[in-house]
Amino acid sequence: MATTKKQATVKKTASKRLMGLEEKYGAHNYHPLPVVLSRGKGIYVWDVEGKKYFDFLSSYSAVNQGHCHPRIVKALKDQADKLCLTSRAFYSEPFCEYEKFMHDFFGYDRVLPMNTGAEGVETALKLARRWGAVKKGIENDKIKIICCEGNFHGRTVTVITMSNDPSSYADYGPLTPGFIRIPYNDPKALEEALNKYGDEVCAFIAEPIQGEAGVFVPDEGYLKKCFDLCHQHNVLFIADEVQTGIARTGKMLCSEHDGIRPDIVILGKALGGGVLPVSACLADDDIMLNVKPGEHGSTFGGFPLAARVAMEALKVVKREHLVENAEKMGKIFREEIMKINSPFIVQVRGRGLLNAIVTKPIGNKTAWDICLRMMEKGLLAKPTHDDIIRFAPPLVIKEAELRKAIQIIKETFEEMA
Ligand SMILES: *Cc1c(COP(=O)(O)O)cnc(C)c1O
Repeated sequence: MATTKKQATVKKTASKRLMGLEEKYGAHNYHPLPVVLSRGKGIYVWDVEGKKYFDFLSSYSAVNQGHCHPRIVKALKDQADKLCLTSRAFYSEPFCEYEKFMHDFFGYDRVLPMNTGAEGVETALKLARRWGAVKKGIENDKIKIICCEGNFHGRTVTVITMSNDPSSYADYGPLTPGFIRIPYNDPKALEEALNKYGDEVCAFIAEPIQGEAGVFVPDEGYLKKCFDLCHQHNVLFIADEVQTGIARTGKMLCSEHDGIRPDIVILGKALGGGVLPVSACLADDDIMLNVKPGEHGSTFGGFPLAARVAMEALKVVKREHLVENAEKMGKIFREEIMKINSPFIVQVRGRGLLNAIVTKPIGNKTAWDICLRMMEKGLLAKPTHDDIIRFAPPLVIKEAELRKAIQIIKETFEEMA
């Protein structure tokens, strides 16, 4: 008894002190669950008091390979001892090898390296605009890009211009001109926009599954229809695969589910193997070579550490069959979660290991309370848009572990009702 009480007190002091520091000295641009983490391994993380949790967020799918993957950490450390940063003013051995590696791995002519996902998106928009001006011959200040309602492409000013979520864009104006927003999962809307503005449109950008919107999965064939429409109008199709790419949805790229090869692919998150911010745009010569030396770049983009880490991160995905595992575990997850009988659950949806439960509040209990209870029971997940809980464990999860986690989720919903 005495020890339990003492442990409870310890818990409060260590975590509380640290959360207090963030409260007092950090910008308040996040609202984290009240848990302070200090260690991670594979699919698990530990808080400062030593309590172990299933990580069912995986840093928004940046940790697909699992926390502190030994091969990825080794690649990081080995390279750190040799050469960390050169800038692109000089060639570096790891980056040159990385360029060829990315070509062989994804089958695009070229790669343009950046660091964060938002920068990858910015880069894709610039590549598309440049292509529109140079190849399609659109007058530069008339160039338009079509985007989708409910999108999340990152946080820079141009990128938030595409958002229709006020919490992303409100009071950050003036925003960037040149975007047309249409409903997602609505090929008709794209057709109409292209018929109306097609001559001035350089690109259409979409997430193959809308992650931040709450794992919104479009109808089968939606991407293919959009891709075909784009090509009829000589418009580039940009797939933002920052969250859906790198095996998360049971394919290496989510676009493969619809059998398409986007003109530009944006990668980020898990490309960095859960240890570094690494993003990239992939495209063929016709698009990529319109940008000449000095016309775009990033000091850190493609730095030696990032190049080594990204190659190892992708090798791990292949070596450990994470595409197949995501597909298989995802099926089990949805099958089992759909069996839960709870008044809170409105819908279960997802693909591979990118899944969500859409909830509705009962009394004054919301998705936030459900996540707090799951946290107490040893599983971390976070609500998006107040009522949707995303479940996205590292893709290295095994069936027995997944079933334990499902049991926690099941018990939580049963206890809450
Ligand atoms: C997370 C995300 C981004 C932004 O990535 P950052 O690294 O946070 O800048 C862009 N697009 C999608 C689809 C994302 O999920």
